[in-house]
Amino acid sequence: MYSFQRLRIAIQGVVQGVGFRPFIFKLATELKLAGWVLNSSQGVFIEVEGEKDTLKRFLLRVQSEKPAHSYFQSFEASYLDKVGYSDFEIRKSQDSGEKTVLVLPDIATCPECLAETLDPHNRRFNYPFTNCTLCGPRYSIIESLPYDRPNTSMKHFEMCPTCLSEYQNPLDRRFHAQPNCCPACGPVVSLWDSNGKELATGVSSFDRVTEGLKTGKIVALKGIGGFHLMANASDKEAIEKLRFRKRRSEKPLAVMMSSIDQVRQECAVDDFEARLLLSSESPIVLLDRNTQFQNSAIDSSVAPDNPTLGVLLPYSPLHHILMSRLDFPVVATSGNLSNEPICIDENEAINRLKGIADLFLVHNRPIVRSVDDSVVRIVKERELVYRRSRGYVPLPIQLKKSTPPALAVGAHQKNSVGFQIGQNAFISQHIGDLETEESYSAFLETISSFEKLFDVSPDCVICDEHPEYLSTKFAEELNIPSIKVQHHYAHVASCMAENQLEGNVLGISWDGTGFGKDETIWGGEFLHFNLDQVARILKFHSFCLPGATQAIKEPRRSALGVLYETFGDEIFEMDQLKTIQAYTKSELKLIRQMMKSGFNSPKTTSVGRLFDAVASITGIRQSVSFEGQGAMELEFQTNDLSGKDFYPFEIGEVIDWRPMIRELVNDVCRGENLHKIATKFHNFLVEVILEVAERVQEPRVVLSGGCFQNKFLLERSIDRLTEKKFVPYWHQRVPPNDGGICLGQLYLKANNIKDEY
Ligand code: ZN
Ligand code: ZN
Ligand code: FE
Repeated sequence: MYSFQRLRIAIQGVVQGVGFRPFIFKLATELKLAGWVLNSSQGVFIEVEGEKDTLKRFLLRVQSEKPAHSYFQSFEASYLDKVGYSDFEIRKSQDSGEKTVLVLPDIATCPECLAETLDPHNRRFNYPFTNCTLCGPRYSIIESLPYDRPNTSMKHFEMCPTCLSEYQNPLDRRFHAQPNCCPACGPVVSLWDSNGKELATGVSSFDRVTEGLKTGKIVALKGIGGFHLMANASDKEAIEKLRFRKRRSEKPLAVMMSSIDQVRQECAVDDFEARLLLSSESPIVLLDRNTQFQNSAIDSSVAPDNPTLGVLLPYSPLHHILMSRLDFPVVATSGNLSNEPICIDENEAINRLKGIADLFLVHNRPIVRSVDDSVVRIVKERELVYRRSRGYVPLPIQLKKSTPPALAVGAHQKNSVGFQIGQNAFISQHIGDLETEESYSAFLETISSFEKLFDVSPDCVICDEHPEYLSTKFAEELNIPSIKVQHHYAHVASCMAENQLEGNVLGISWDGTGFGKDETIWGGEFLHFNLDQVARILKFHSFCLPGATQAIKEPRRSALGVLYETFGDEIFEMDQLKTIQAYTKSELKLIRQMMKSGFNSPKTTSVGRLFDAVASITGIRQSVSFEGQGAMELEFQTNDLSGKDFYPFEIGEVIDWRPMIRELVNDVCRGENLHKIATKFHNFLVEVILEVAERVQEPRVVLSGGCFQNKFLLERSIDRLTEKKFVPYWHQRVPPNDGGICLGQLYLKANNIKDEY
């Protein structure tokens, strides 16, 4: 019975007067789906109910069989609980009262504009700023509403008579296309060296860039929402140079490929992934790589030891023109130093990126706000957004409850902010870790530009309980009531919000770090929600983190904490363990003192750190270059999909994982296969969820927090819960990581959920 669900689709685009609603009616009726389609000033909304597999087919067919003259500028789908429709109807638009005007995201180039750009006989041949009413930049160029040219960064360019006549002709594809322009009147590209000296301008810039990429140069390219750094993805030397200069030693890099055929040569692509790659949102899609690496055009340094690859297709004419000249894929990573926000201005880029890029392909259309590429993965044939930015932002997530305007300022890492206006939650683009001055000012600018765009001033502000987060401090200084909510409550709440859940659920909230109610570091929490309350009903046994935040960089520290908790002083003699070998005798002596006295060794229940500990004990990683690397590499070892074995644990007041560690250490010492160990560890976590669910007997189980970016953990938890007749819920449109926190903050406030800790 749980395979019966509701699919909700929100579409922006040309869907009026093109036979769209009759098409949906016919398709739904053919597939025997009940529900409705509704046309409103906020877009077209479709809800259908039926078997999961039929809904998935419906989703693909809406896209592939849509009427000839319809066009999707945005397409977002969520799977929700059924409400029990009896037939399919075309609903009357119920527009009444004031509606928030929606701002569209930046839209990938449409096929007609692409054809013109690549047609030598067209006046827009090789013109990188070609666009029309269907496609082109929106959110990244809008300064204020209404969306008219004088309110965009296109105001600096006056249309030539030909462009103006297109703009004024109701029969033209460019009728009222605000960013309309051409080579005679619009922005131009130029090529600069790293001192900002112009080397070329117009089309010839592309020739020089092509040449540069072929000869191992690193190119900073000003695109839609900011700068990309590009290098030939086949050229090991170039990639290594880029990594060294950008200070990004191992974190996987995304790759832009010229066509879906090229993608298929490198990766497995199913129908859902193909749809996403070619969509108007055009995100980076995380794909499984083909196993035959030897013929790959992608050098191993792009995503070292990684069975997945982040891939995107060209999404602006500028990218299309460049990619059409290259016969190799290119790395396309954000134009920034690690952890800083992406660069948007060419003069600033020269300053900030001059040590990284050799060539700068720039243009003179200002970018009003930075919008990174979004990152999406298909899990269980559904979208799971890891980073919600270009293509999605600023379209709202619709919530069940309407409230007075509220602002949520999110967390600290992967920060994004949210505004709730009525039933709509507007989630901002990815801002980044609020660690540098640049990211903090991007945070401030994002808030003020949202207030301006949506003409809203919030009645209250919601923030994290962590006293040291800059976002929290900011909230406290505003002159409106501020509400603090616990980090892990917000994780689960964000997942409840986007799945439109209310009332009783069991929430599993697992991540790296969050400030707990008892002022320790949480991260392995079991929460119970009812209509207006949340309680932490169970947690992982805690262990100490010698060196506190240093442990994030060094999994061996988490491992020492975990081993010490399990074996006590004995561990300092266990020389056969890689964790112990990673230290000198005197270092061990020092850390032993720290752990004994508790000095700079806070207690944690974090599952993220437990992953780190296991990565260290198994010898995978002693130190990492980005957070979660240990966990990621441990996940990659779980190719034993048939493995059902799991490590033992005990549940009392807490989840005691020490039996797991004892057996795991035993396995490691007798040289057990690493795939087996990794799978057994993941299965242990899944069985913990199962066991707790059986005890709590709450039918609905919500999975959230950064740990659920782990595909193996997520999929297996879903499968096992379903097997045992629980209903699992996980993320779709909003990330499970801290990028989703602001939505959870809004939900906790809107539903007035109090904690009864
Ligand atoms: Zn177009
Ligand atoms: Zn023109
Ligand atoms: Fe978190």
